[in-house]
Amino acid sequence: VKPDPRGAMNEASNTTLNVNLGERSYPIAIGSGLLDDPGLLARHIEGRQVAIVSNTTVAPLYLERVAEPLRAAGREVIEIILPDGEEHKNWSSLMQVFDALLANKCDRKVTLVALGGGVIGDLTGYAASSYMRGVPFVQVPTTLLSQVDSSVGGKTGINHPLGKNMIGAFYQPRAVFADTGTLATLPERELSAGLAEVIKHGAIIDAPFFDWIERNIEKLLTRDQAALAHAIARSCEIKADIVRQDEREGGLRAILNFGHTFGHAIENGLGYGKWLHGEAVGCGMVMAAELSCRMGYIERASVERLRALVNAAGLPTDAPDLGAERWLELMEVDKKNEGGAIRFILLKPLGSAVITTVPHETLLATIDACVA
Ligand code: NAD
Ligand code: MG
Repeated sequence: VKPDPRGAMNEASNTTLNVNLGERSYPIAIGSGLLDDPGLLARHIEGRQVAIVSNTTVAPLYLERVAEPLRAAGREVIEIILPDGEEHKNWSSLMQVFDALLANKCDRKVTLVALGGGVIGDLTGYAASSYMRGVPFVQVPTTLLSQVDSSVGGKTGINHPLGKNMIGAFYQPRAVFADTGTLATLPERELSAGLAEVIKHGAIIDAPFFDWIERNIEKLLTRDQAALAHAIARSCEIKADIVRQDEREGGLRAILNFGHTFGHAIENGLGYGKWLHGEAVGCGMVMAAELSCRMGYIERASVERLRALVNAAGLPTDAPDLGAERWLELMEVDKKNEGGAIRFILLKPLGSAVITTVPHETLLATIDACVA
């Protein structure tokens, strides 16, 4: 009997990290086939009732695989299926969750399970933070972005008509299960968008990881399970480490916004949804690298390395032509800019980040150089 190669790979590539936040610490399990481990979720869920929150895209693909073992373990499973889309990360979806919890007489021992991407994770986490003044929640992120980014850090919330993520809370999950197998069904554009945040983690703090991504970008794009597991694990470690040092966003955590000042301007300037967030961040990182180079912080060759990697990941590298005036206006409204001057996260050198203001002319020249 030959050993099951898939089994062998699972052994090698499945890992569990621990996010260290004192009594709010929690494990992140990463690997392929996690959802096929029948007892895994049940072991992390104490109460009798479990409410799985998902959407109309993800539920038909994965909900039964999560629900069935929980029922087999004697849990009452409530399924709450929301419409798909960022536009539904709102008050009315939140009410839909509370309505279902109350209609099913869920008490404060109910556990909420978020099964989906960042939209479902953020909304479910916020519902958990406030239902009966707080009930446990578990994340089963199914997009690369949610596996490498939104499932770590404890930010939960919904959008308000006047602003994205304006209503929310810091609330930590009990556990995160990132099954790389679920990425098999993810649309290509969404996979690339997630890779933007992976590249970001290497660029701001871990040069060897950046090198690794360069060498493995093809494997990541073809969804090699072991490569994905490594990229997710290292990303979660990096983000968790930064968040542990700055849970409520006082200082260090700002470096996670590398590429985001330019990126938000692109998202906003083109109208939300035209480019995916990760696409705007990909291009935004190239712009921030260009600016770093013009400030004398990195070599031209480093800018070109970042540009080549962003491009190889299937992300745009040419900035949209919004007009210089509009670019400045859009960056000035970015939430992260306190007290006047725009503060940029720049590379100094590739693999570490600094936060600084820049001369107006240097910024203008950068925008000019990056616009297609
Ligand atoms: P998303 O949740 O909208 O998912 C993207 C699309 O992929 C959706 O259509 C979804 O239904 C679909 N999908 C999900 N998993 C799938 C799968 N396995 N197979 C096929 N299709 C699948 O988007 P996202 O990029 O995961 O998350 C974006 C959201 O995350 C935003 O609302 C953003 O504000 C939030 N976010 C939060 C944090 C945080 O720290 N809390 C960080 C970054 C982003
Ligand atoms: Mg982001």
